[in-house]
Amino acid sequence: AKDAGRGNFAYYSEAMTLAARERIELEARLRKVIEQQELRVFYQAQVAAASGRIVGAEALVRWQYPDGQLIAPGHFIPAAESSGQIVALGEWVLAETCRQGRAWQDAGLPPLTLAVNVSPHQFRSSDMNALVARILKKTGFPAKYLELELTESGLMDNQTKVMGILNDLRAQGVRLAIDDFGTGYSSLAYLKRFPLDVLKIDKSFIDDIPHSQYDMEITATIIAMGRTLGFKVLAEGVETTAQLTFLKTKGCDYYQGYLKYKPMPSDIFAELLRQTARP
Ligand code: C2E
Ligand code: CA
Ligand code: CA
Ligand code: CA
Repeated sequence: AKDAGRGNFAYYSEAMTLAARERIELEARLRKVIEQQELRVFYQAQVAAASGRIVGAEALVRWQYPDGQLIAPGHFIPAAESSGQIVALGEWVLAETCRQGRAWQDAGLPPLTLAVNVSPHQFRSSDMNALVARILKKTGFPAKYLELELTESGLMDNQTKVMGILNDLRAQGVRLAIDDFGTGYSSLAYLKRFPLDVLKIDKSFIDDIPHSQYDMEITATIIAMGRTLGFKVLAEGVETTAQLTFLKTKGCDYYQGYLKYKPMPSDIFAELLRQTARP
């Protein structure tokens, strides 16, 4: 595909950066990727900090080339965002995750929450509530096991509209999480106003525990505040035992991280569930 595209680059202005050219090429390819089903969903376990039990999983999209090579979302989500293709992509991920969740339940695996990322663009542009209702109905995945991960920036736009969408999703029985908590520019006031269930503490606060006193204070404060306000608190990117020990001491409810489980393909994750479900 690269050689075929090369000649076309002649009409691009010379000032156009390579990155911009690659982005245009990528956007054209993404359309095909969604149509031709080159996307895969990986699952990363969400673990109860106190018991070590798997209570859920986050759905994380990958682009799988026909040759099997996997491309991380950091390489195509931004282009999908700026071109609007994130809406179709997000819809696919949501439908695929609910389909998989229902299949696992039908296979007798222990029920668990599946968390799906919703981009700000998707949250604003599409009719989220109708989409979620349609997919839940079509797949038969119970709403109470679906969690949507929203970002602070996605919530800051039109407060009245956002509140309406959130209330409706909640009324459907879906759980709502704030992703990358602490990295946005939002005020804390929305925490009280919006019907949210889970705060996901961003990995950047976890990385330097136990070496950064500051990050430990921030993390402990978010956990205490979250719990006081009635949220569940999940820490992202836990890689060391020292981090986990600290989080447990502070009363963090859940965590995700390479320390215990990396994102994995659905069949391997299902096998993990089978094993951990054994008495
Ligand atoms: P995110 O939502 O913050 O997801 C967590 C990212 O951290 C994932 O990267 C995960 O693999 C990684 N991670 C988890 N534990 C650890 C750890 O212990 N150490 C390290 N170094 N990394 C860890 P991934 O899968 O590459 O996804 C990157 C981002 O792409 C996600 O960040 C999310 O913003 C976006 N993304 C992924 N899938 C989707 C999707 O279906 N829709 C949308 N809109 N965005 C998605
Ligand atoms: Ca996420
Ligand atoms: Ca996150
Ligand atoms: Ca992140």
